[in-house]
Amino acid sequence: MRFRYKIYLCVLVLFLLALDASAFALLQKSYDQNKQMDIWRGTIEYETVSETLNHLIDGTAGGRKISDVSLRQLIDSFSQSLPGTSMELYRDGTLFFSNTIYFEGDRPELHSASPMSVYRNINGRLRLYVGSTLTQEGLSLSLSRDANYLTEYYHLLLRYFIFLSVSISVVLSLFLLFFLRHLMRPIEQLGKAANEIAEGDYSQRVPVKTHDEIGALAENFNKMAEAVSEQIQELTLLNEEKEQFIRNLTHELKTPIAILHGYSEFLQNANCSDAEKSLALRYIQEHTARLEQLTGRLLELLRLRNEALCREEIDIPALFASVQSLSDSILEKKHLTLRSETQVQTLCGDHILLQTALMNLVENAAKASPDGSEIKLCSRKEDGSTVLEVADHGCGIPKADLAHICEEFYRVDKSRSRASGGLGLGLSICRLIAQLHGGSLEAESTYGAGAAFRLVLPDISAQNG
Ligand code: ADP
Repeated sequence: MRFRYKIYLCVLVLFLLALDASAFALLQKSYDQNKQMDIWRGTIEYETVSETLNHLIDGTAGGRKISDVSLRQLIDSFSQSLPGTSMELYRDGTLFFSNTIYFEGDRPELHSASPMSVYRNINGRLRLYVGSTLTQEGLSLSLSRDANYLTEYYHLLLRYFIFLSVSISVVLSLFLLFFLRHLMRPIEQLGKAANEIAEGDYSQRVPVKTHDEIGALAENFNKMAEAVSEQIQELTLLNEEKEQFIRNLTHELKTPIAILHGYSEFLQNANCSDAEKSLALRYIQEHTARLEQLTGRLLELLRLRNEALCREEIDIPALFASVQSLSDSILEKKHLTLRSETQVQTLCGDHILLQTALMNLVENAAKASPDGSEIKLCSRKEDGSTVLEVADHGCGIPKADLAHICEEFYRVDKSRSRASGGLGLGLSICRLIAQLHGGSLEAESTYGAGAAFRLVLPDISAQNG
């Protein structure tokens, strides 16, 4: 059964029970009240009649026992003056006078010293009997009246109450169904959206129309859907990156492996000369060295991804000096000058990793620069971050390549870079080092006029690291 119908039934049953119970209690109270009024009226009437009768009997008998003839005359004339009320007079326990149907059952009111009232059902109609003994010994009087209007009134109210109860149930049912449908709609929407998300449509959101619990639930649902959608996007991106990495790696490995395979087959050929053999061996050595270099770089990437940073206070001029001395041989080959400029003196980070990143950038700049040109190494503050920049006046990078330059195995001039030993992993390592420091690697270039690479490192104190 749907939740909406469960609520509907519960509310309807509870409401009708409460309504019926209170209406029935009111009905009963009203009936009892009317009965009390009826008894009060009957008793007043009885007292008036009995007092007058006592007085008349005493006056007629003069203190003696009244004779049957006088009593009959008295009662006769009296009974005619009470329309709607019936009289019964008993003398010494025997019915002496009656102008009503004789009732044979127990008559306690005839033996009561004070007026006593009793309701009896006579031939399907309710009658009120009020009676007691009179002052003259042996006499008992009972007055009775039709009280069936009480039962009729009770039944009239009961019929009205049943009609009211049924009408209210119908109206309430319709209202309840309407309101529950309205109230349940957001929950149904939530269920539908959850279903769509489960089936892979992560763009599903629900409208937040109210500021109550349902509204809060819808808001939280949307937040959850947003988080799930973001995570799925991240995972998809990560997956794509990994696939791309594997594709690139396979491509990188394919060429040297094919070359190694070709030359080893060539060596097996008995007809080749010694000179050809030594050339083939040289090629095999070169490509083995390249494969070694590639695995070394890949291992470095892997190590960086899993290694924790060793943060310390770094003296930037000393860092630049160490980069200069380690890059000396590369710079000398092309008569390049490395000029350092330090606007920021210290930095919190991993000395070895930052030195590796800067050396990679200087090496790339040296490869791209024309003979005798200058490479600039500088540190400065930018938006609360420390920036370490390597800028050159080399060939620069085309705009279309700039966005992909940091991807693994990406090279601008593929064949030339491969020939010069470039693996396309240096900038990936630099980017990873920047990311490990909570920062990023930015590249800027004007094609043909030079390039600048910036390690943007947010300021974190040595203690936090
Ligand atoms: P590689 O090992 O090939 O140098 P990198 O990831 O370090 O790999 O660099 C990727 C490519 O970016 C290089 O092949 C080169 O074409 C280009 N590049 C890097 N630095 C510079 C620079 N300073 N000027 C021009 N091109 C550059």
